[in-house]
Amino acid sequence: MTRDNVIFDLIAKEQQRQEEGIELIASENFTSLQVMEAMGSVLTNKYAEGLPKKRYYGGCQVVDEIEQLAIDRAKELFAANWANVQPHSGAQANAAVMLAILNPGDSILGFDLSHGGHLTHGSPVNFSGKTYKPHFYGVEKETGIIDMDKVEATAKEVMPKLIICGASAYSRDWDYARFREIADEVGATLLADISHPAGLIARGLLNDPLDHCHIVTTTTHKTLRGPRGGLILTREEMPNPKGDTTPKGEVRSLNAQLDMAVFPGTQGGPLEHVIAAKAVAFQEALSDEYMDYVYQVKKNATAMAKAFVERGYDIISGGTDNHCMLIDLRSKGLTGKLAENTLVKADITINKNMVPFDDKSPFVTSGMRVGTAAVTSRNMKEADMEQIVAFIDAVLTDPENEANLAKVKGEINAWMKNFPLY
Ligand code: PLP
Repeated sequence: MTRDNVIFDLIAKEQQRQEEGIELIASENFTSLQVMEAMGSVLTNKYAEGLPKKRYYGGCQVVDEIEQLAIDRAKELFAANWANVQPHSGAQANAAVMLAILNPGDSILGFDLSHGGHLTHGSPVNFSGKTYKPHFYGVEKETGIIDMDKVEATAKEVMPKLIICGASAYSRDWDYARFREIADEVGATLLADISHPAGLIARGLLNDPLDHCHIVTTTTHKTLRGPRGGLILTREEMPNPKGDTTPKGEVRSLNAQLDMAVFPGTQGGPLEHVIAAKAVAFQEALSDEYMDYVYQVKKNATAMAKAFVERGYDIISGGTDNHCMLIDLRSKGLTGKLAENTLVKADITINKNMVPFDDKSPFVTSGMRVGTAAVTSRNMKEADMEQIVAFIDAVLTDPENEANLAKVKGEINAWMKNFPLY
């Protein structure tokens, strides 16, 4: 076979882009070389429908060992009693959970997308909002923080079967205990989607959702620094809330129901090459080095928020408890779209983001979201966060000035040589 130079040249170009620029997209990170090595392995050749030791294909003896290790390491990392490592993504993990515990048309209560929630938590353009009846809670206009009394009042009003906590752009920790009280009051199952702060939670830097939530889902590629993928966890053992029964007429356990909702419910063959990479990432996340990493992610986010505030930027909720923050650009007279498009010219990657009570469309937005997971993987420290904010400010205070953009880009490309990637 002739080598596909077109694609490999583009991959080299992408590597250069990643090396030379400042990556601030809060959901991105840089995996280790061994995580990528596992993903690019012969495991991609193997079909393995089913679970370890219960497969629909022959020749699964090796992938059984790999998947079992991934499960065991995930359980150890999160002190969980059960894990399914097969979801192809965070969205797939959430789809499986909803299939397992809901009937079409059931009410669900999630965090408003425009306040920082995720599409899969009930957005009308997503399966979750099309299949189930979505209701939302949000943050307060004055504080940017969720008011739990209002969550309770909404839950009592709409009587959801599922309550979801977790977000794509919320910089504060979650009161899982109070969410559980509310879920118990209305008879709902409680799901925490910890896709963003999973790594900080795993190493005890934020509240532990498994102390209170029936089910936890996460992606494996954000703060967790693994391959792109999803994961479902439980700690509590319980029957499935729908009361579905096994062929023998016994009520199926929630864990077994979740396994079935992943396969055959929503997926076919598992991606064993990605599962091997998840196992590698979970092992890395159990190390002392990773503990230092997540601790630095949090310190860097705090330093970055402080630097933004000092330069007059308006951070929703005034700061951050985790790795990310949402910045309202209206006080600077800028839109998210303009910020994203201008910063990328200087090799700074962020994403435009709706802010709570936004008056602009999702294509324009009034905000930008930034996070420190990726730059911390480049070995940056607090002082480097101040330098990054200085670069951003230099771009955004003069966004039309192409000569200035080119100058800042040159400075950034030179500066990034201090932080080698691979
Ligand atoms: N849940 C949350 C809270 C997320 O932030 C994301 C991704 O950004 C997802 C789910 C979906 O993950 P994926 O893109 O892997 O489907």
